[in-house]
Amino acid sequence: MCTLYLQFCKDNHIDETFIAKRWVCFDVFDKHFQLSFKPPDVDACDLCDSFQARLKCNALGQADKNILIAEYESHLIESKRMCNLKSEDIKASKTTPTHKVLRTDLQKGLPTLLLTNGISFYKRKLWILNYTLFDSSDKSVHCMMWDESKAGHGGARKWSSDDCYGQNKNIVIIMCFFWIMNKYPQIKCVNLKYLLKGHTHMDADTIRALIERKRKKMNNMTILTPWDWQQMLIICTAWDKKIFKRFTSLFSGRSAQFIYRKTSVEKEKVLRSSCVHIQVQQENIAMLYMKSSFDSEFDTVDLNRLKRKSGRFEEEKFPKILPVKFPVPISEQKSYDLISLLPYVPSVCHAFYKNLQKSSVNNRNYPESADNDSLEH
Ligand SMILES: [Zn+2]
Repeated sequence: MCTLYLQFCKDNHIDETFIAKRWVCFDVFDKHFQLSFKPPDVDACDLCDSFQARLKCNALGQADKNILIAEYESHLIESKRMCNLKSEDIKASKTTPTHKVLRTDLQKGLPTLLLTNGISFYKRKLWILNYTLFDSSDKSVHCMMWDESKAGHGGARKWSSDDCYGQNKNIVIIMCFFWIMNKYPQIKCVNLKYLLKGHTHMDADTIRALIERKRKKMNNMTILTPWDWQQMLIICTAWDKKIFKRFTSLFSGRSAQFIYRKTSVEKEKVLRSSCVHIQVQQENIAMLYMKSSFDSEFDTVDLNRLKRKSGRFEEEKFPKILPVKFPVPISEQKSYDLISLLPYVPSVCHAFYKNLQKSSVNNRNYPESADNDSLEH
């Protein structure tokens, strides 16, 4: 914006002494206008990019091009539709006090032990995860942070290849909903809706931007403990190990209440990875309702382990307390790297790093490299 202003001055031959300095531009913009910057309305996903690239290809005949354009347009319409569905939900929640719309985002890579010295650049980092809940009804934001030694970022990966972990469609999240339903009978129904990846327009995304902005402002700021990241957010809760429940216990083992079933009550195969809408109901905990398109009807999947009526879900049988998730030790190499940096860190922080559980077996599904999608080193 400032560049545009300077160009305007130049084009209009305004005398240099009258041209405001850059900082004045920012100052006026910040203090005298109720304005802020907004991301563009149409954002692009991987699919959009691939459409764009293919359309630019000269070898493509006009007929093929037309097909591609039609596909691309229907993709854009679908993404717009999903965003509209979201807006409708939010609107409804504002007039219906019993409805709440929550949007979530898991930011996975906030590296810890960020020092200004050169050596630390090449050392493995302890990753901090930030889970953000954006409550559309009252516009409040809640951030929960934990480090990778407390818990990972998804369900247990081995359950099924059909499950899509990044998008919470896995069986673990469904068990979590069942558990919440049972614990809080006032919740009558939970709907989980998935937007098109890359077109999510998530308010929670703004939290990432906020952290990045704050960090850039604080030039040369070092990150000594996970607590330093928490300081950057206004409302932030640190999550301890005890908070991570082992929801898998609800469906694994013969005595478990539920079972992982892939066929609907109509005996049709259901694919969780392609579903866009999941529903669970207080009235009928253990039943899972799924849609693979917002236009279609719900498929019902019965997750009761026992098919006969007498053995089915009963409130009394539901475990009141769930076991806590197994700890996720960090690798020995990572622990070694972190400890090697302690001479540059105040002694008050040493115990935290020395007490991190480590293991020589790499049993983690968390990326070791710095391929996080939110922060450059
Ligand atoms: Zn797209």
